[in-house]
Amino acid sequence: MANGSVVGSTTSSGRVRSAFKSGTPARVHHNPFDDVLEQLERAAEVLQPDRDALEPLRHARRQVVVSVPVMMDDGHLRMFEGYRVIYDNSRGPGKGGIRYHPDVNLDDCKALAAWMAWKCAIVDIPFGGAKGGVACDPSKLSVGELERLTRRYISEIFDLIGPTVDIPAPDVGTSPRVMAWVMDTFSMKKGYVEPGVVTGKPIALGGSGGRLEATGRGLLFVTRETLRRVGRDLADSTVAIQGFGNVGSNAAKLLHAAGSRVVAVSDVSGAIYDPHGLDMPRVQAYYRETGQLRGFPGTQLLDNQGLLRLPVDVLLPAAMEGQINADNAAEIKARIIVEGANGPTTPEADEILTRRGVLLVPDILANAGGVVVSYFEWVQDRSGYFWRESEVNERLEEKMVAAFDAVWATKEKFEVNTRTAAYILAVDRIIEARSLRGLYA
Ligand code: NAD
Repeated sequence: MANGSVVGSTTSSGRVRSAFKSGTPARVHHNPFDDVLEQLERAAEVLQPDRDALEPLRHARRQVVVSVPVMMDDGHLRMFEGYRVIYDNSRGPGKGGIRYHPDVNLDDCKALAAWMAWKCAIVDIPFGGAKGGVACDPSKLSVGELERLTRRYISEIFDLIGPTVDIPAPDVGTSPRVMAWVMDTFSMKKGYVEPGVVTGKPIALGGSGGRLEATGRGLLFVTRETLRRVGRDLADSTVAIQGFGNVGSNAAKLLHAAGSRVVAVSDVSGAIYDPHGLDMPRVQAYYRETGQLRGFPGTQLLDNQGLLRLPVDVLLPAAMEGQINADNAAEIKARIIVEGANGPTTPEADEILTRRGVLLVPDILANAGGVVVSYFEWVQDRSGYFWRESEVNERLEEKMVAAFDAVWATKEKFEVNTRTAAYILAVDRIIEARSLRGLYA
């Protein structure tokens, strides 16, 4: 992923460098699929859709669990568990990332796949929602083990993916390099080159210019539009960002370049803080060199909870689920939260924040830049004609601003918070597609 931060770069010992520290994976304290159902319910209370139209949205269309045997470097076989879920495909083929993380499980994949379905509907691209992953810690796998795990996992779900069926992409713990193995495995089994089966590929294999930075760039546009609605702009705002992987580091870089004062960033090992603003190009160079943020000169070291409580204009969680929860929501001082990660705020925290007047821009809108450019990548692969990066970025801005405007108009129409507005918009668009198609057989 970006900045050589995770899988795809190797350490001097030949192990894969990962987002997680060995033995300290991020814990998820709740079931994110419960959050999906609760958030859906809140939207339904306002939208009042027909009961029969709503019911299918409470269920994943297809859930697959596979065993993935991998020959390890020490000559022993090890079994891993892999998943792939298509939540809804009424608007188009499934679309969603592949996550490699020790905590990956079926309910996580269901939640993430549902969020992908809502997200694709909000940015109005012709995809449904999907997600998958393998429960593993990529920091403990060699490059060879990671490649064998990827190839076997893709072989196990081969019949279930394809450019018109379900199109994977990178997520936590996977990278363009992993996507190259996905593309190669699928193409070898088909007998022809099929770049459109997966997005987030290296440029040399049909990847799109701008894809690596797309989620961060989308966050930049959404943060800019949100600040505008409250009479502020990027140049007079302070920002704290949790997570320094693809999403967090690119958002930090782009917000800094746009004039915002990025005062804190963090990775799994902690946060660095400078109230005068961090020099992001220097922070990124330091991170590339050392693989950590800790120790960056002239900064205060905080833990991740400390970062979440900083007095900033914009808080941008870009790490894992459930980070803003009932335990810390009352102490968050930011007036605006822009969700870079998927599901970083629990429904209880959402209620507390809404009561406190915090303006929260939900994940399914805020971090949709990645899937928008994934869509552009798929279009380019399928037409065999590639666009300039500036063209990709312009089209991304157009899509993100249109989606932001649509969610904001829904928020004002129904007098709800931004998350419920985003859900209402998504659910309405999916129900419309389902009802136009009708019930098959
Ligand atoms: P990544 O693996 O590149 O980076 C994750 C970052 O989070 C790392 O810096 C890691 O150190 C940090 N982290 C992990 N656990 C943490 C914890 N408990 N506290 C603080 N930091 C922690 O992942 P990514 O691709 O940047 O994805 C981050 C989030 O954004 C995920 O929720 C993912 O689903 C979501 N997302 C990613 C994309 C994309 O295009 N990559 C698109 C949309 C949403």
